[in-house]
Amino acid sequence: MLDRRYSKEIIPSLDGSQTILMGWVHEIRDLGGIIFILLRDREGIIQVTAPSKKTSKELFKKLRKLKKEYVIEVQGTVKKSPKAPRGVEIIPSNVKVLAESQQPLPLDPTGKVKAELDTRLDSRFLDLRRPEISAIFKIKSKMLHFVRVFLEKEGFIEINTPKLVASATEGGTELFPITYFEREAFLGQSPQLYKQMMMASGLDKVYEIAPIFRAEEHDTPRHLNEVISIDIEAAFMNHEDVMKILEKLIVKVIKDVKRHCKDELEILGRELETPKLPFERLEYEEVVEIVNSSGVHLKHGEDLSRAAEKALGETMPGYYFIKSWPTNIKPFYVMPKEDDPNKSYAFDLMYRDLEVSSGAMRVHEHDLLVERIKRQGLNPISFKSYLSAFKYGMPPHAGWGLGAERFTMALLDIKNIRETVLFPRDRRRLTP
Ligand code: ATP
Ligand code: MG
Repeated sequence: MLDRRYSKEIIPSLDGSQTILMGWVHEIRDLGGIIFILLRDREGIIQVTAPSKKTSKELFKKLRKLKKEYVIEVQGTVKKSPKAPRGVEIIPSNVKVLAESQQPLPLDPTGKVKAELDTRLDSRFLDLRRPEISAIFKIKSKMLHFVRVFLEKEGFIEINTPKLVASATEGGTELFPITYFEREAFLGQSPQLYKQMMMASGLDKVYEIAPIFRAEEHDTPRHLNEVISIDIEAAFMNHEDVMKILEKLIVKVIKDVKRHCKDELEILGRELETPKLPFERLEYEEVVEIVNSSGVHLKHGEDLSRAAEKALGETMPGYYFIKSWPTNIKPFYVMPKEDDPNKSYAFDLMYRDLEVSSGAMRVHEHDLLVERIKRQGLNPISFKSYLSAFKYGMPPHAGWGLGAERFTMALLDIKNIRETVLFPRDRRRLTP
C-alpha cells in the first residue's frame, strides 16, 4: 500500500516515485492529446498530467468524464517538470472517482467568480475550499492552540462552566431565553460569575475558552450573537498583573503565528508585526481629551461611541490599553478605586478602533459587592449562590475576557467579523 501524500509534499526530488493523492478536481483542461487536471487538497494544488500516449485508453476515457469538484483518488508517478506550476507533476496510472459533484455549483470554489459574503456563507463548505478562506481558520486554530500553550505555561488551569444558566451575569437584556423543562433559563453571556466563584475554590488561576451568547440587536461588522471568549481569572492579582499577562499573551501568540503559519499568512498577504512591550496605557480621561480634540464629541463619563472609537483608532496605532474607566459604565463586579470611587480598576485592550478585550480587578468583599449590585439596579437575591462564594474566604482577584474573533480580526486585519467564524450567528443568520 502506497502512502497518501498531500499536494504540498510532492516535491521535484521525489521524481520517479509512486504516490497516492486525494482531493477535488479544481480545474480540468482537455487539449485532445493531453489532459491536465489541477487536483486540490487541504495543503494546495498539484497538476496531474495525462498524455494520451502514456495513458491507458480506459483511464483516458475516465479522465474525460471528470467534472469540477469531483472527489478523486489519483495513483501515479511523480515527475520533475520545470513547466508545471510547482516544478513537479503527477503522471497518473489509476484514478478513482470517490464522489461526484452536481453542476453547476452554487459558488465558484476557485474564487474567480466573485460572490457576496451572504452567498458565500450560504455555501460555506464550498467557500472554505478557497485557500484564502481556509487559511483564516487554520490560523485561528493555531492561535487558540498557542493561547492554551501560553496560559498553561503561566500556570492557568482550564475549566468548563455551564452555558445553560438561571439568570443574567450582569443584568441587562442581552440574554437569549430558553425553555429549561418547566422553567425559563438563558444562554450564558459570559463565564464571569463562575470564573470568579472559582477564585474561592483555591484553583487560583483559571481559564476557559468557550462560546458566549449575546442577544444584542445591533448588526455591525464587529458583533456576533455567538462568540468564542478566551477568559481568565487569577487570584492574588490586581488589574495591572492581568494586563501584563494579556499583553504578553498577545505578543507571544503573534510571534508563534508568524513562525508557524508562514504559508497561510503569505496566502492572505498579511505581514504581521510584533508589537513592542509594554503596550501604551491611556487613562480614560486622556481618551476623552484625544477624542474631543479630534472633533468628535465625547462627554466625560460616557462609554465610547463608534465615532469615538474611530477617532481614537486614527491616533493610536496597534494595541493599547484604556484604563481607569468610570465605575458607572462598567459592571457591578468591577472594583472602584479606593481613593476615587467614581473611577474603577477596569481596562479595555484596543487594537486601533476595535475593542478586543475587557478586564478588571474585581470586588472581592461581600458587602461592597452587594452594595454595587444594588447600585446598578439589580437584586442581590438573584445572585445568592455567587455571593455565597464571597463569604468564606474570597481572595483578591482580577481577570479579563478576550474575544477570539475580535483577536483574529486584529491578527489578520479582517474588517468583517463574520469572516472569522465558520458559521456565524448574527441578527439575521441562524443557518447553516
Ligand atoms: P462592545 O462594546 O464592542 O460591544 P462589550 O464591551 O459589550 O463589547 P464585553 O462584555 O466587554 O464586550 O466582552 C469581552 C470581549 O468579548 C470583548 O472585548 C470582545 O472581544 C468580545 N465580545 C463581546 N461581545 C461581542 C460580540 N457581540 N461580538 C463579538 N465579540 C464580542
Ligand atoms: Mg467590553
